[in-house]
Amino acid sequence: MSGVAPRVAPVRIDLHVHSTASDGTQPPAAVVAEAVAAGLDVVALTDHDTTAGWSQASEAALREGVVLVPGAEISCQVNGVSVHLLSYLHDPAEPELAAEMQRTRADRLTRARRMVDLIAVDHPLTWEEVSARVEPGATVGRPHIADAMVAKGLVADRDEAFATVLHSGSRYHVRHYAPDAEAAVRLVRGAGGVPVMAHPLAARRGQVVSDAVISELAAAGLAGLEVDHRDHDPAEREHLRSLAAALGLLTTGASDYHGSGKVNRIGENVTTPETLERIEAMATGARMVRP
Ligand code: AMP
Ligand code: FE
Ligand code: FE
Ligand code: ZN
Repeated sequence: MSGVAPRVAPVRIDLHVHSTASDGTQPPAAVVAEAVAAGLDVVALTDHDTTAGWSQASEAALREGVVLVPGAEISCQVNGVSVHLLSYLHDPAEPELAAEMQRTRADRLTRARRMVDLIAVDHPLTWEEVSARVEPGATVGRPHIADAMVAKGLVADRDEAFATVLHSGSRYHVRHYAPDAEAAVRLVRGAGGVPVMAHPLAARRGQVVSDAVISELAAAGLAGLEVDHRDHDPAEREHLRSLAAALGLLTTGASDYHGSGKVNRIGENVTTPETLERIEAMATGARMVRP
C-alpha cells in the first residue's frame, strides 16, 4: 500500500438550467448531455413556469448517467417587483400550483403578442416570426422575441435586444401576470416542493426585494437563497450568506445556463452535496432521477 490518499472527485451539482421548454436554446435532452460533458454529477432542470421538459430530461439523465433534479423557476412578484422562485421536486400534478403556472404561461403568451404588436409599429417584425421560435407547449419569454429580431438582423444578439426594445423600461415592454411570491412559496410547499429564491440580488435585471421581504418569505416557508450566481458580486454573496445564516436558510450555487442565449456556462457555479441532501430530505412531491 502506498501512502498516497485516494483522489476522490468532488460531486458537482448545478441547480438551475433552462431548455427549449422555456427560453433556453437546447432541448432538455441536449442540456442533460451538456451537463455530462461539463463533468457535472447532478443537474436541475428549472424552466420558467413549466415542467414540460421533465420527461425528456429524465430519459436523457437515465441514458447519460447523470442525476436529474426536476424543478421549475416560477415567475412571482412582490408589490410589482419581479421575483424568481426556484422550485425543486414538487408534484407536477398538484392542481393549485399547476393552475398558477398555467395562468402565468397563458398571460406570457398574451403579453408577448402585445409586445410584438407594439414593436411592429416601428420595426419589421411579425408574431409568426416570433412564435416560430417557441417550441410547442413551451413558456414564451422576451428571449424568443429577441431571437426573432436577431434572425431578421434587427439586433446583433439577445443582449442588445434586452438593452434596447425588450428592456423593462422600454415603451414596448408589457408586464405579465405573476403570483405574489409569498403565495407561490406556500403553493410550492403545498405541492411537496422545496422553494429557493433565484438570484435575490441580481439588480442588473431590475429592482430587487429587501431583506425584510426575504425574511417574510422565510417565515412563509422559503427554504433557501441562490447565492453563487454570476449576477451577484462578492459583497452581495457575503451579504446573502449572512442573511441566510440569520434566517436558517440553505444557500445554493448555479449557472442559470440558457444554452447559447446567455454567456453563462453550465456548471460555472455549484451547490454542495450536503445542501442537495437537505433539499431532497425536505421534498415529498417528486423524486430525483438516478441512473
Ligand atoms: P421574461 O421572462 O419574458 O420577462 O424575460 C426575462 C428572461 O430573459 C430572463 O429569465 C432571462 O432568462 C432572459 N434575459 C434577461 N436579460 C437577458 C440578456 N441580457 N440576454 C439574454 N437573456 C436575457
Ligand atoms: Fe430565462
Ligand atoms: Fe431567473
Ligand atoms: Zn433562470
